[in-house]
Formats: sequence, structure tokens, C-alpha cells
Amino acid sequence: MFKAVKRAHTERAEIDHESGPSGAAGVRAAACDEPVILAFPSSASVQEEPVRGASLRAAIESWCARVDLAPDLASDIGSRTWLRGLATLLGLGTAAIALCPGFTSVQTAAAMPLGQQEREEFRSQSIAPLALGADSGRHMGATPRVSPLADAPERPRVQLVSTLGQGDSLGRLLERAGVGAGDAARVAQLIAHVLPNEDIASGTQFDITLGRRPAEGEARLLESLDFRARFDLDLSIERKGSGLAVVQHPIRVDDTPLRIRGTVGSSLYRSARNAGAPVGAIQSYLQAVDKYLSLDGDLRSGDGFDMIVSYRRSAKGERQVGDLLYAGVERGGKPRLQLVQWGKDRAMFAASAVGQPRSVPIGQPVAGRITSNYGARRHPILRYMRMHAGIDFGARHGSPIYAVADGTVTYAGRHGGHGNYVRLQHGGGLGTGYAHMSRIAVRNGGQVRAGQVIGYVGSTGLSTGPHLHFEAYRNGRTINPAGIAVVQRPQIDGRERDAFKARLNALLAVEPGAALGSLALEGSGSAQAQREIDKLAP
Ligand SMILES: [Zn+2]
Repeated sequence: MFKAVKRAHTERAEIDHESGPSGAAGVRAAACDEPVILAFPSSASVQEEPVRGASLRAAIESWCARVDLAPDLASDIGSRTWLRGLATLLGLGTAAIALCPGFTSVQTAAAMPLGQQEREEFRSQSIAPLALGADSGRHMGATPRVSPLADAPERPRVQLVSTLGQGDSLGRLLERAGVGAGDAARVAQLIAHVLPNEDIASGTQFDITLGRRPAEGEARLLESLDFRARFDLDLSIERKGSGLAVVQHPIRVDDTPLRIRGTVGSSLYRSARNAGAPVGAIQSYLQAVDKYLSLDGDLRSGDGFDMIVSYRRSAKGERQVGDLLYAGVERGGKPRLQLVQWGKDRAMFAASAVGQPRSVPIGQPVAGRITSNYGARRHPILRYMRMHAGIDFGARHGSPIYAVADGTVTYAGRHGGHGNYVRLQHGGGLGTGYAHMSRIAVRNGGQVRAGQVIGYVGSTGLSTGPHLHFEAYRNGRTINPAGIAVVQRPQIDGRERDAFKARLNALLAVEPGAALGSLALEGSGSAQAQREIDKLAP
């Protein structure tokens, strides 16, 4: 009763229950509930129906609002509200367990009953794991009805192909193929008449035909042997009567150089590839032109390119691409750059530079971007303003570093903060330095040509990552390497000049695409073939 009074909004039914038969409370409750009790007997009245339903719903709603069925069980432990919450929890848990249907295994029949016989049948179609022998199918053992042959007839002729390996010799190859020692010696002797045995390129394939054995236990007799001895010669060794003889089959070969011309377009490489230039030739062309023109800035899409490479094609259809002989760049129909391969070291010389010394801008020492220019800057490691005495090129570790001009190596080795360092002296008091290399590819005192690889990009010395620190010197003091030029002395003097000019004119007379046709279709006439045979006969 005390509790009920204290809580002003306590449920009336509770008061009833707690006060028991106490008259006052009971009367009060009855008085309050009067409208409901009065309404009950006359529930059949349609008009009163919504009033009764609404009040019942209101009663339930107000009860739900007052009574907290699921209080926080962590607070007020032991209180009535808490106990009611516990009862709710236990009640719900019990209800859940009571309603659980339970789990039992479901019994079904096997899809297909497997007997021992069926199991064996499946096994014969499976492949066992490799570790268990990887066997498959059925095995049938020999029955007593099977008897081994006492003697099997030999094949009358064996044909095989044998390839000359690297570091291999003709003698060893013949021995491997099963050619007898006598025949092998005779073959080597016959071939040596035509070309030295050592000159046969590794990878050459020999078609060998072996005949019957002269007697049991002896090596088979060599019947014939055919191989490509040279680009322009097939050799056959055939048994004629009792001995072996060599027959030469010359292959017509044409040496017309391959000339490819076209317009630079959006990409010189792609245009040249479309025009039919071999990849190697384009690379040589770009490398040669790069020393004279900037491929990014100086070439326009309307410019023409012109390359001539040495080329050999045989009547059998093979093609051999050789060195770049001529590299040209044209603008508006006039030659802008003409480079001709000249001299015993097969370097490319510019036709315009023959005869007079001239100033040539230096090439780029490495394929990469400039990451830091010449001038004062905050040092990345030392952290104070300091003169940066060169240009930094960012490049991948191991990228080749090229000499920017011809010169002499005046230093090659460790050099303090420079790490692995190479210094070159060019003409006219000009020098260049290359620092932080991972590997040096030249020796102190050696001569280098422009474009020669002198080392590889690294991060030795005082460096934060792989890059090339490139310096230039004039009379021992560093200068800004950007835009410097070196004086190039003519390497072709007066006497050679006429020969050089003649060579250039001969190359320019080559018809573009003349070498692209098929040689076999061009001249099947016998006259030329006859001449080749005459030329090659011993
Ligand atoms: Zn630097």
C-alpha cells in the first residue's frame, strides 16, 4: 500500500491486488472502472462497441507504457522491475526451446548401388595419381600363348634429322646419329673441300639417311646427308657406287639493300614498321639520328624518313637483315640529315660534316627525364642550400649511360660522394662527368665514341635513389651542361672524301622497296643460276 501511494501513477489493478479486500481501495477501483463495467452487459449495442474497444486498447496501451517488460538487467538488480525482466527473459527462452523442432538425420537411398564389378569398371576409366603410377585402362598380361620372337628383321633404311649444337662438332654429330667411323671421316673430308667444318653454323640441321648394315653388329652405311652449308649453298653427300661424293646446290642470293622511305606521321616507329622496316633497323636508325636531331623536338610529322639496311634474300625465301647503311631525314623534299655507314668500325658519319670541323650539340647521356637542373638548390640529404653542379636524370637502375661525345676517359672508379664515377675529356677544354653509376663499363685512359655505353645507372655515393648526375666542365670548372656543344673534327679527310661521296650516291640510287619482292618469282631463268654454279664450283 505504501509503495502504491508513493507511485502516483501505479496501476489500479495492482492496488486492488495488494490491498486485498480493503474496502476503500476496492470501492475506489470500482468507482473508477465503472463505465467499463456498466458498458459490458450492453455490449450488443452497436453504438457503444467502438467506445468499449477504444478504452480496452487505451488500457492496454497505458499498461504497456507503465510496465517495462524488458528492463536493463544490468541495473537495479534484485528490484521488482529487474525480477520481472528476468521472468520475461526466462519465459521467452523457455518458449523458444519449447518451440524448437529438433534435428534428426534424414535417410535416403544411394543413387546407384556399386558392386565390386562396377567399381572395377570405373577404375579402368580413371587415371590414378602420378604417385600411384598414373595408370589408366585395363591391363592384359601375356598369356602362355604369347612367345617372344627369336629374331626381328631390321628396318632397311633409317631417316633422321640431327642438329649441330653450340660447341658441337660434325664428327660428334655423325657419331650420335650412328654413322660409322669410316663414313664419318670421309664426310668430314668431303665437306672440308667446300668449306671448313668449323664454319658450319650451330643450329644447322642435317637430314641423314642410313642404309643397311654390311654385316651384323656393324654400323649402318650412310646413304645420304643434306644440309644448308651457307646462306647461299646447300650441300648433299650421296653414296654413288661404293664411295661417297659431295654435290653442291647453290642457292641464288640477292644483296640489294633494303631501302624504306616514308613520312614520320604521329610516330616514326609505327610509320616505319608500317612501311615494312625490320625492328632492328628502326632501332639503329633512331639511335643514329638521335645524335644529331632531338627525336622529340626536331622531327615534324610532315618530315620524311629514309633508311637503307644491308639485306640478303635467298631464292628459298630466307631474309637476312644486316647493318644500317644510310639514315636520312628530309624536310620539304630536301635532305636535312644524311648519315652514311663508313669506315672499318662501321660508324655513321654525317654527309654534311665531311670536310669541315663543326660544333655538334651533345646527345643525352641516358634515356630519362631531368629531375633536377643546374644551380643552387636544397640538398636532399645534407639539407642546406648548396650549388647543384650538374643535371640529374631520373632513370631505372641499370639503364645504360652513353658518352655524349667522342673523348678520352680521364677518370673511372670510386670518387667520394659521386660514387662510381666516369669523367670524359672531349676536345676544346670541355669535359663531362657521370656519377652514381651501379657499374662502370670503361677503363681509365680508354677512348670512347659518342653514344658508346660507359656505365649503368645506379645509386652509389651520396644519392637517394637511382639516377644519373651529369656534369660538364670547361677548363676544370663545372658549367651548366644544358645546351653545350662539342667541336667535332672531320673524321673523313680529303682523300676519303670522294669515296664517301660515291658511296652516298650509290646508296641513294637504290630503289625503295626493291629488295622486298620474292627472289624465287623474280628470276627463274636458268642463265643466272648457271652463273652462280660457275662461281661456286671448286
Ligand atoms: Zn645531381
